Amino acid sequence: MKFNELSKCYFELEKTQKKLEMIDILADTLKHSVSDEIGKITFLTLGKLYPDFVGIKLMLAEKMVIKALSLATGTSEKSIMNTFEEIGDLGKTTHQLLEKKSQTSLLSFTQTKEEDKEYEISEVWEILDKIAKMSGEGSADKKIKTLAGLISKVKPLEARFIIRIVIGQLRIGIESHLLLEALSVSKTGSRESKPLLERAYNSNADIGFVAEQLYEGGIEAVKQIEVRLFNPIRVMLAQRVSSSEELLEKFGGKCSLEYKYDGLRVQIHKKGDDIKLFSRKPEDITNQFPDVNRFIKEAAIEDEIIIEGEIVAYDSTKEKILPFQQVAQRKRKYDVDQKIEEIPVRVYLFDVLYCYNESRLDTEYIERRKLLTEIIKETENIKFSHQLVVDNTDDIEIFFNQALENSCEGVMGKDVSPDSIYQAGARGWNWVKFKQDYILPDTFDLVIIGADYGKGKRAGKYGTFLLGCYNPENLVYQTFTWVGAGFSDEDLDILYKMLKPLSRDKPKEVESEIESPVWFDPQIVIEVEGAEITVSPMHTCAKGELERESDGLALRFPRFTGKMVEDRLAEQATSTEEIHQIYLSKKDK
Ligand code: AMP
Repeated sequence: MKFNELSKCYFELEKTQKKLEMIDILADTLKHSVSDEIGKITFLTLGKLYPDFVGIKLMLAEKMVIKALSLATGTSEKSIMNTFEEIGDLGKTTHQLLEKKSQTSLLSFTQTKEEDKEYEISEVWEILDKIAKMSGEGSADKKIKTLAGLISKVKPLEARFIIRIVIGQLRIGIESHLLLEALSVSKTGSRESKPLLERAYNSNADIGFVAEQLYEGGIEAVKQIEVRLFNPIRVMLAQRVSSSEELLEKFGGKCSLEYKYDGLRVQIHKKGDDIKLFSRKPEDITNQFPDVNRFIKEAAIEDEIIIEGEIVAYDSTKEKILPFQQVAQRKRKYDVDQKIEEIPVRVYLFDVLYCYNESRLDTEYIERRKLLTEIIKETENIKFSHQLVVDNTDDIEIFFNQALENSCEGVMGKDVSPDSIYQAGARGWNWVKFKQDYILPDTFDLVIIGADYGKGKRAGKYGTFLLGCYNPENLVYQTFTWVGAGFSDEDLDILYKMLKPLSRDKPKEVESEIESPVWFDPQIVIEVEGAEITVSPMHTCAKGELERESDGLALRFPRFTGKMVEDRLAEQATSTEEIHQIYLSKKDK
């Protein structure tokens, strides 16, 4: 398929907010593609080239892109910058620039261009891939030239989207679940196969592969997709409760408790001596943890396994788990050896997802725990998460207090019924978290969706932030609170640098009745605490689910805790349902 056709589709998608309409528009275009390009199309449509865990990213800085545009069009960088500042979108800026230029002549080296060359989608993908992989000395220059070459040969509309993909801001409002639905419609004519596609996607986090299988072998081939070593399984998340009574009630009077360690979640894939580690997102974090790699080799009894656990910073002289802020420093990609010395870690394992040549996603929890102890032996640095089956609130309270004494942030309650499968990619009720701060105050992982400029000392930076939670039912971010308290000057500097490139028109995936002076791509997650959840006519969190149609939920006295939640995707932020649950449980009390 031609890239021009895909660009037209993206342009149509940009114009609508309605999910069903978006699915139909996308499905109509996808229908015309074939199996050896559909994988590439799915990634481009999500604004990338590969699944996140592959770690090859485009993400060119705006300055480089402006250089490339200048080279391609012969317009000065300053003039491009001025237009960009006026429009606030580099894709639209490029579109406008090329439209103007198409009447006049383009740069000399492009005058040899093959007139009216129509690029195939695969050709565009391959050039972008080449740019992404350029590294080493002089690579910045090469990237600029290659991008300039491409931009000078494509149509203005195509360039609009190529530039947006290159800077990681495609902004057509398509995320993976909408895309899976569109794939289902395009290939089978109905949305009914979406759950099957989701199951396949959750089991290997590679949406391109799922799409290829669908286009090659139909839905039967999708059904055959299984867990594969070295393809991360999308992680299972937990719901939350705020009392031991509620915890027990959710599991019908009996459940397993585990300490909730405050560290970095890791999914470990091992085949012989090959080991890869994935974060919750999932991203490949193998290179940051060569020590964990060694520990696993020592502890593993079986050759081929996928297991999960929490990496925590550990002080072995004091025999104490250290706070999250310590292990967070181990995420750095440089000075790894030095950090290993400074911040030793251990891993508390809590699950097995693959062993004895079989996926264990559908195996019940108690059996999975048993398997875990068969395939791993505990060592100094590899431990099993502390665990106990309970059937009364007294035991829960004792275990909970023990967890806190042992530097954990609370407990995880886990279903022990035969239905207790591993719900990959879902925030289901098979796991429930109960943390100390849920008693008061609450902490929430919220997405920054808007901001206002600061005054006085904060002038020139953002001073207050509009925060949202995620509603996975409607695939939207809903506003929950403004926050201005708890930020140091350094925090505000860092946030300004991170957020400025993400500023844009109001994103369609944001549901807000508040007009924010600045809007952002919902990407940055921060931890916030607050005193109380109240109803509010201003905010959209849980709107439509409360007694009065016009009410939403809001957080009172919000304050930034100082924790940037970097290992969480925006869609893994605290969900509307979680907030609604907390509100209901507190209200009942
Ligand atoms: P959440 O991500 O907010 O749903 O909370 C669950 C997180 O707690 C997981 O992603 C893990 O990183 C972490 N965690 C710590 N201890 C455990 C445990 N014993 N079982 C499962 N998750 C745990």
